[in-house]
Amino acid sequence: MNGKVWLVGAGPGDPELLTLKAVKVLARAQVVLVDDLVNPAVLEHCPDARVIPVGKRGGCRSTPQAFIHRLMLRYTRQGKCVVRLKGGDPCIFGRGSEEVDWLAAHGIEAELVNGITAGLAGATGCGIPLTLRGIARGVTLVTAHTQDDSSLDWAALAKGGTTLVVYMGVAKLGEVRDSLLAGGMRADMPVAMIENASLPQQRECRSSLARMRQDAARFALKSPAILVIGEVAAAREALLAYSA
Ligand code: SAH
Repeated sequence: MNGKVWLVGAGPGDPELLTLKAVKVLARAQVVLVDDLVNPAVLEHCPDARVIPVGKRGGCRSTPQAFIHRLMLRYTRQGKCVVRLKGGDPCIFGRGSEEVDWLAAHGIEAELVNGITAGLAGATGCGIPLTLRGIARGVTLVTAHTQDDSSLDWAALAKGGTTLVVYMGVAKLGEVRDSLLAGGMRADMPVAMIENASLPQQRECRSSLARMRQDAARFALKSPAILVIGEVAAAREALLAYSA
């Protein structure tokens, strides 16, 4: 395992949602580069490793990616087993594949380890089935935070009939609402906003497309949160009734 980087998903927060593989890799790690959204409780699985925070709070605001690359290079060249620990799944809005490509270009072996992504954890944890026979035949994961503002076809998403799970949407609720309404989605489409999914401080706010921005403001919704937009976002009562 030495001289290699493992890009490991730490899951959405609840340490019990870590994969067994993540736990095994962490136990053998010598250096762990940790993102902000990773619950520190996960680090109990790597008590002997050198833990280096590399998120914005870790002090590398300006060029985080270059800083992280340098660290991965330095420690793998020292023959260390390096874990790059990311929130959720490393390849869902996590730049995991970019880091693998970069490592490959520098001759460093890398391996990805799945994590449970926040959207899945948040929805299921609130009793929202992201797919539901006869109601939602698919699910689309999107980010509201795009670098060039042109890459998402919101009109197609509005008409697509799949459940939408929006990451990084808290600061963009107005834009998301306007784009989907303009694309023809109904104003009363159910929305669930789930903050701190899977953590003890998890909160959920149920709303509709037209009202989600005002409701989020009243609720003081904060990041990290995901939005679930679609018929299934109103499905909790039905699920609870089944389990009763
Ligand atoms: N790779 C991560 C996503 C990173 S992008 C994953 O697979 O989950 C960061 C965004 O993820 C946040 O802005 C938020 O939308 C979402 N997120 C991450 N952790 C979350 C949590 N515990 N609860 C709700 N949303 C979360």
